[in-house]
Amino acid sequence: MKQKIGYLTIDDVPTRCTKRKLDYLISKNIPAILFCRGELIRKKINIVIYAIKKGFIIGNHSYNHPNFSKISLEEAKEQIEKTDKLIEEAYKKAGVKRQIKLFRFPFGDKGNGDFEKLIPKNKHAKEIQKILKKLGYRQPKFTGITYRWYKKLKKDADVVWTFDSCEYELPLRKVLKRIDESPRINSKSNDIILIHDFSTPKTFSKIIEKLISKGIKFKLPNLK
Ligand SMILES: [Zn+2]
Repeated sequence: MKQKIGYLTIDDVPTRCTKRKLDYLISKNIPAILFCRGELIRKKINIVIYAIKKGFIIGNHSYNHPNFSKISLEEAKEQIEKTDKLIEEAYKKAGVKRQIKLFRFPFGDKGNGDFEKLIPKNKHAKEIQKILKKLGYRQPKFTGITYRWYKKLKKDADVVWTFDSCEYELPLRKVLKRIDESPRINSKSNDIILIHDFSTPKTFSKIIEKLISKGIKFKLPNLK
């Protein structure tokens, strides 16, 4: 049987719990992409440097997590660039070469929301994609993801997820049950899995254990 691959992504990094989660992942030999908020990197850059030295990939998750449909193009650019500089600084301080520039929108809002009065629909989203591409942002090669809707997003410069563990809105018992019953997790497609850094280290490790018990092996995508 084909091995199902999970590409682990953690959003809203860093927090005071990040290091314990990273150490847990290191002990299990599990790689991950950490989508960091600029404002949080500012407060805890040492954790980000630690993560880089341990081989984790740092992605950009905006500066302070706005809805990109609700801000101007100018503000969107600033959110991306400000955080990009902080990530650059962290890689420099870690003495590690930054291999790839990855971006994930807060709330998955690409800027094409229903805020027509503020911003002409779709135009904004297209322009943000252009800004990302100009700065060198792109998707790595997530292979083996077979969902039809995902294929439509392959040309975008940002990184989406295909399975959200929803640990921020459900009690752990329900999170685990949801994973057990998820059509996506139970499918043959590989998945980009999202967990947030707000979760406690205990919740975090229980989710990972559950995913492993479902036959998932965690890998990094091809960054080339
Ligand atoms: Zn977020």
